Amino acid sequence: MNSRRSFLQNTLLGGLAAGTADFWARNLPVFDKPDKNAFPVVIATWGPNLKANAAAWEVLSKGGYALDAVEAGVRIPEADPLDTSVGYGGFPDRDGHVTLDACIMNEHGMAGSVSFLEHIMHPISVARLVMEKTPHVMLVGDGALQFALSQGFKKEDLLTEVAKKAWESWKIESKYKPIINVERHDTIGMVAIDSQQRIAGACTTSGAAFKMHGRVGDSPIIGAGMFVDNEVGGAASTGLGEMVLRTLGSFLVVEEMRRGAHPQKAAETAVKRIARKYAKLCEEAQVGFIAVDKRGRFGGFAIHPGFNYVVYQGGENKVYESASFLAK
Ligand code: ASP
Repeated sequence: MNSRRSFLQNTLLGGLAAGTADFWARNLPVFDKPDKNAFPVVIATWGPNLKANAAAWEVLSKGGYALDAVEAGVRIPEADPLDTSVGYGGFPDRDGHVTLDACIMNEHGMAGSVSFLEHIMHPISVARLVMEKTPHVMLVGDGALQFALSQGFKKEDLLTEVAKKAWESWKIESKYKPIINVERHDTIGMVAIDSQQRIAGACTTSGAAFKMHGRVGDSPIIGAGMFVDNEVGGAASTGLGEMVLRTLGSFLVVEEMRRGAHPQKAAETAVKRIARKYAKLCEEAQVGFIAVDKRGRFGGFAIHPGFNYVVYQGGENKVYESASFLAK
C-alpha cells in the first residue's frame, strides 16, 4: 500500500513537474507593454489622502522602492490626530479602546499584518516588521504589542480628546449604525508601482467606530482589505469590512485583473458580487475598491455614490470621484 501510494505520488508530481512549463506558458496573463509614463504610480482610497499620496510620491519620484512608498504614505493619516478613522485620533471601540488593524505586502508576495493592536501610532510599520523579521504573517492584540515594543516602538495613548468626546456622546444612545460615506470609518488603502515596476500595497485603519471590543475588519486581512500580485496589479478596499471579509474583495479584484479585466471593471465585479449577495445590507452600508494594474491603469468603484480616491501619476496628484453601483 505504502509503495503504491508513493508510486502514485511520484507519478503525479512527476507529471505536474513535466507539465508545469507548458501550463504557465498557456496561462500566464499577457499584459500589453506598459506605457513608460505610467510609472511610478500610487493610488489610495479617499480624497483627503492626497497628502498621503504626496508622501509616497516623494519616495517614488526619486526612484525609490514601492514598499517604502506605501509605508511612508499611510503613516501620514496614522499620525494625524484629525483623522478619526486611522491611527492616532481614531475613534475607539465601544469600550473606549483605540484598536488598530494594518497590513502590508511586497512585490514578492510576502505579507505582514497586525490586528487589534493598541497604543502604537504606526501599525503599518509594525506590520512591515512582522513580514521582515518573523516567520509569520499576522500578529494580534497583546502579542502584536509585545512584538512592537521589542522592536523599539513607543507605547502611547492614542485616544484624543475629540475621539473621547465622540465616544462619550455615542454612549448616550450606544447604537452602532454606520452612515454611508461618513461611516466614521474610512481606512486608507494604498497601492504603488515604482519605476522598476515593483508593486506594493498597504492598508491601515482604526476600524469601524464604536465596534465591539475585539472586532477585526477586512483591513488587516491579506486578500480582503488589500492584495497585490506583482504579475498582475493590486487592490484595496474601504467601507463595511464585514462585507469585504465575506467576499475576499481585494483578492477578487486582482484575480479579475489576472483574467484580463481593466482595473475599473475588476473593481466593479467585486462590488457587484457584494451587491448581489448582500443586497439588504448594501442599502445602508458603503464599500469601495481601488485597483491598479501592471500596466499602470487604474480604477475605483463603490456601492454608493460619494466614494473617491486619489492617484499620483505623471507628476499629478488628483482626486477621482468613483462611479457607483447604486444611484444617488
Ligand atoms: N474597512 C474598515 C473596517 O471595516 C473600515 C473602513 O474602511 O472604513 O474596519
